[in-house]
Amino acid sequence: MMQGPEVLDVLIVGGGPASLSAALYLGRARRRALVVDAGSPRHAPSAGVHNFLTREGVTPAGFRELAWADLQEFPTLSRVEARVTALAFENDLWQARTAQGHELRARALLLAMGTVEIPPEIPGYAERWAKSVHHCPFCHGWEVRDMPVATVGHGEFARHMAPMLQNWSDDVMLLTHGEPLDAETRQVLEARGIAHHTSPIVALEGPGSALHTIVLQDGTRVARRALFMKPGQRPHDLIRELGLPLTGAFVEVDAMQRTALPLLWAAGDCTTGFQQVIEAAAQGARAAASIIMTLTFSTD
Ligand SMILES: Cc1cc2nc3c(=O)[nH]c(=O)nc-3n(C[C@H](O)[C@H](O)[C@H](O)COP(=O)(O)OP(=O)(O)OC[C@H]3O[C@@H](n4cnc5c(N)ncnc54)[C@H](O)[C@@H]3O)c2cc1C
Repeated sequence: MMQGPEVLDVLIVGGGPASLSAALYLGRARRRALVVDAGSPRHAPSAGVHNFLTREGVTPAGFRELAWADLQEFPTLSRVEARVTALAFENDLWQARTAQGHELRARALLLAMGTVEIPPEIPGYAERWAKSVHHCPFCHGWEVRDMPVATVGHGEFARHMAPMLQNWSDDVMLLTHGEPLDAETRQVLEARGIAHHTSPIVALEGPGSALHTIVLQDGTRVARRALFMKPGQRPHDLIRELGLPLTGAFVEVDAMQRTALPLLWAAGDCTTGFQQVIEAAAQGARAAASIIMTLTFSTD
């Protein structure tokens, strides 16, 4: 890669809560950090961010702008809207290239780029995602409290999620989407009064982004106002290309968010299944503290 004129202390890939929390620590520690953000967070279609104290219900875009407004005070921070397309560790520096033509060099790299969703191929799913189809009851259970809700899954996930939803509604249904109902799950459902269907889902229906009916392959039409299902996830290609050790879709990190590669940290959704804004922010904070300590005592 070309050698640019300046060397940053830290390059942060991604501009969500993990990134901006790290940037706050780095700015306050007078470290030169650049946030490179493609601007497409997974929660963008959601109406509001929940469970982040002092910010209940703010829009995802509003959350970022409030965070960035706080960061304006610190002159060593900057942000660019761009997509990082290549990363390499050469001559003891992280080198990055963006689709928009930036050539960047930094002593440390923080991956805070979230994760990639793999949506199910169910007609009506895409337009209802984050509106009436949700993945996380902590994030959206309150908004559908006391409504008829369903969850999709089988086995251990079903035994966990269906009873969990009873925190928010007495009318919970399990849809196994073509999987057989095992004896252990049947026992849990019966004990808790949770109805179920095993026929595959073939369509989600309702006006606009609302859910009124879940249509099953056997012709059953189930009246529900919200559906909780967890789409699959995979790591971003950039993460795969670095060859980082993964557990499932997630980058393996230590207690201070260090990865297996030199001077490379990762924070937020790209490292964990506990995907919450406040958790991402906490991880960003830990990563930044670790980066600052590492750069302080490095001999370069
Ligand atoms: C629909 C939905 C609703 C949710 N609601 C809530 C909620 O109410 N409360 C809650 O606590 N959590 C909620 N979450 C989870 C929460 O959004 C995430 O846990 C959190 O945003 C993770 O932060 P992050 O910084 O790791 O990643 P993200 O917020 O996903 O940010 C990653 C950023 O990196 C950028 N990026 C990716 N690749 C590149 C690249 N190559 N170059 C440059 N930039 C790149 C992306 O465009 C994105 O802007 C929700 C999630 C979803 C999907």
